[in-house]
Amino acid sequence: MAPVLCIVIPCYNEEEVLPVTSEIFLKELETLIEKGKISSDSRILFVNDGSKDKTWSLICEMAEKNTHFSGISLSRNRGHQNALLAGLMDAKESCDITVSIDCDGQDDITAIEKMVDEYINGSEVVYGVRSRRDTDTFFKRFTAESFYKFMGAMGTEVIYNHADYRLISAKVLKELSEFREVNLFLRGMIPLVGFKSSTVSYERHERIAGKSHYPLRKMAALAMDGITSLSVTPLRIITSLGIIISIISFIGTIWAVVTRFSGSAVDGWASLTCIVCFLGGIQLICLGVIGEYIGKIYMEVKHRPRYIIAERTGSKESEHSGTYSK
Ligand code: UDP
Ligand code: MG
Repeated sequence: MAPVLCIVIPCYNEEEVLPVTSEIFLKELETLIEKGKISSDSRILFVNDGSKDKTWSLICEMAEKNTHFSGISLSRNRGHQNALLAGLMDAKESCDITVSIDCDGQDDITAIEKMVDEYINGSEVVYGVRSRRDTDTFFKRFTAESFYKFMGAMGTEVIYNHADYRLISAKVLKELSEFREVNLFLRGMIPLVGFKSSTVSYERHERIAGKSHYPLRKMAALAMDGITSLSVTPLRIITSLGIIISIISFIGTIWAVVTRFSGSAVDGWASLTCIVCFLGGIQLICLGVIGEYIGKIYMEVKHRPRYIIAERTGSKESEHSGTYSK
């Protein structure tokens, strides 16, 4: 029997693109069903991430017209990662595999078929990797690529040029549900879950309409979240920095004592000021990094829900459960 697929699509203020892309997603789903690659019970799950426009009413309309469409609505905007997790956790009960994709049509939809093929060949996780970034602006490309390199250097395992377009089996999602952190960085967490994985390359297009919700500020925040939730490398860098500075200071002290006793001591105001400023700066940066981790611990111990589902289209009973076995 073919596996039941659920395409999970987070949407935030996407009234402009949704009518266009939903048709594209539906067509692809129907094609895959016709080809017998996936079960006819497969569906598309939209996650409305507290949109302020007509996104949710559009999703409800679509779900009424076509049973392949369904949706859940979060009680407020929680950000892309939380919205995606909400969708995946909701979908895992009623399908065998999920594919997460953005709703703006940037990711090449035909890669889904390749991902399903990889799954049938034994992979539990299939990462969509961008083959080229010609359509992105130079700035976006540069910042995005620096992002992956920086993440790697900071000790977070991420797949190069892979965003959140990927296939995950329900089996892996069940294990992922045991990861209870509230600071989410899915593309770093999924490799930690393990299981057999593979990659599929695809081309990234321009947004069909609307604008990106990831300006540089949010991207920097995502990078910071990713690093501090998955790695302690920055803390280790601080320790190394502390050791290096201590060694330099020790040598400096010996030098100061020697010059003092050799009788050639100068006023030394300038050098003293430089040292004080330099150390002051370093200490503040280090405190900031440590503070970032303490902030993370603070959020984790509170253990608040990562998302709250306020509404859903249709009722849960009408959903089907996946029984595909390889
Ligand atoms: N998104 C979301 N919540 C947010 C911001 C974005 O669910 O707070 C969704 C958005 O609707 C889209 C996906 O996350 O489907 C990726 O966002 P976007 O296309 O703006 O990011 P980019 O592709 O520019 O990185
Ligand atoms: Mg996008």
